[in-house]
Amino acid sequence: MNNAPKRKSMLSSLAIGAVLAFIGFGFFGCAKESEEKRLQPALSSITAEDLSQDTKILASDEFEGRGLASEGEIKTINFLRDEFQRVGLKPGNGQSYFQEIPMVVITADPDARLDVKGAKKALSFVYKEDFVAETLRVVEEAALKDSEMVFAGYGIVAPEYNWNDYEGLDVRGKTVLVLVNDPGYVTQDPALFTGRSMTYYGRWTYKYEEAARQGAAAVFIVHETEPAAYPWGVVQNGWTGPQFNLVSEDNNMSRCAADGWLRVEAARQIFKSAGLDYDAIKVQAAQRGFKAVPLGLKASLTLKNSLRNVTSNNVIALLPGSERPDEYVFYMSHWDHFGRNPALEGDQIFNGAVDNATGTAALIGLAEAFKTLKHPPLRSIVFLAVTGEEQGLLGSEYYATHPIYPTAKTAAVINMDALNTYGPMNDITVVGYGLSELDQYIEAAAKEAGRTVNQDPTPEKGSYFRSDHFPFAKQGIPAVYPSGGTDSIAHGKEWTLAQRDKYTAEKYHKPTDEFDPNWDLSGAIDDLRLLFKVGYRLAMDTAFPNWKEGTQYKAKRDADIAAARQ
Ligand SMILES: [Zn+2]
Repeated sequence: MNNAPKRKSMLSSLAIGAVLAFIGFGFFGCAKESEEKRLQPALSSITAEDLSQDTKILASDEFEGRGLASEGEIKTINFLRDEFQRVGLKPGNGQSYFQEIPMVVITADPDARLDVKGAKKALSFVYKEDFVAETLRVVEEAALKDSEMVFAGYGIVAPEYNWNDYEGLDVRGKTVLVLVNDPGYVTQDPALFTGRSMTYYGRWTYKYEEAARQGAAAVFIVHETEPAAYPWGVVQNGWTGPQFNLVSEDNNMSRCAADGWLRVEAARQIFKSAGLDYDAIKVQAAQRGFKAVPLGLKASLTLKNSLRNVTSNNVIALLPGSERPDEYVFYMSHWDHFGRNPALEGDQIFNGAVDNATGTAALIGLAEAFKTLKHPPLRSIVFLAVTGEEQGLLGSEYYATHPIYPTAKTAAVINMDALNTYGPMNDITVVGYGLSELDQYIEAAAKEAGRTVNQDPTPEKGSYFRSDHFPFAKQGIPAVYPSGGTDSIAHGKEWTLAQRDKYTAEKYHKPTDEFDPNWDLSGAIDDLRLLFKVGYRLAMDTAFPNWKEGTQYKAKRDADIAAARQ
């Protein structure tokens, strides 16, 4: 950590800022111009050098991959607290910079086998090679014994799309096999669901929740790389070893005894032994009127858990507003990654440099920029570094359901996850663009930077449900996830997408996601300066942005704001 040079640069920016603000105030009457001048020192305080330096620290082996409830967590949250303190932010949770979150760590016995009987030849599948499974129940053992297997298509009950894979089906005590994503994606038919773009019904979390509501004993999603949006290796890494979970009041007993993924090769064998052709039945499942198919097979599986209660922490810091400190604009990033896996040969540390040391470092840079302003904005700015994103958005879910600041007074959330390391872009991609009134703030700032705003170019990957803004959206708080761009100024679109695909294949959620001094962070700096303006303007505004008509989150926001008025 190099505090000294940063302090110096902050002081000198402060001095320049004061001078520029004075000149701006004295010589220019126009409000626009004066905002431009007023923000200049803050904007130029956001530098690639700082971003690179903090990313390097957070992604260093010393931080051990920023695993939850580990030495790595202690180092990470203390680093963030020290940085927020150094910058001059106040503790965001009373006297504390931390929000403690009770969790349970469930470690499944890796020797589990999934046995499938009923056909001539019994099948037996190996944990991690062929399948992964866990129980969210806080119990030491969860078992399936000769549980009848049934194929329930996409495992979706969506009245608004007139779709019900569980229609007339009683799955109590049974083991359900379902496909990943949704019928709209697979058929590319815009009349089905939302066509190519994934709905929440396509997400694995939804499929597990729905199977539990139906009373199933177990649910397995058939993994295929394209519709899942990531290869089997990502499932393996993410699903083996200790699993962190929030603890509900019923100790998660309303969940299925087992939730899992099946490798597609294993699924093919199961369907084959049931006398069915996987590829043919997959096509049928995407057609309206598809009926679930009993497989005539029985599944047995014993999951042995060791349970450990732990505490993990969100880190939260506050820049109080100068006029309306009880209204809030949030910047958020997840600080966690996958920690260390001692079972791996060679490099055991998941450094998570891009994902999400970059976004976490950006929080510090933005905080410094706001402190560079001569006058803090009218509303408070909250800097929230959440835990457990990689374990299923745990820290953001916990904050959104245990808010420190009233949700109705939270104007907006800007989420940052995995910044652009490929240089300047003609555009900025905003996951969640088109959903809320935050669009206009982003469009204005993008236009000033000569950039266009794009929707998520790969909505089939379901990005909107895969990062920390989503739990806030579920609580009605307008939230967006600006995520780099798709059109490199120097190299064009094809090149940019190729870089992204290469990252997903080679580094995403692997120990190879390491800090690289050759990154071009200038595009990330463009993004952060743009996001600074967006947050600043939201914090100078009186409006509480809402969701657009027809979005599923608007009713919650309306009710929340109405309740706060009473
Ligand atoms: Zn990640």
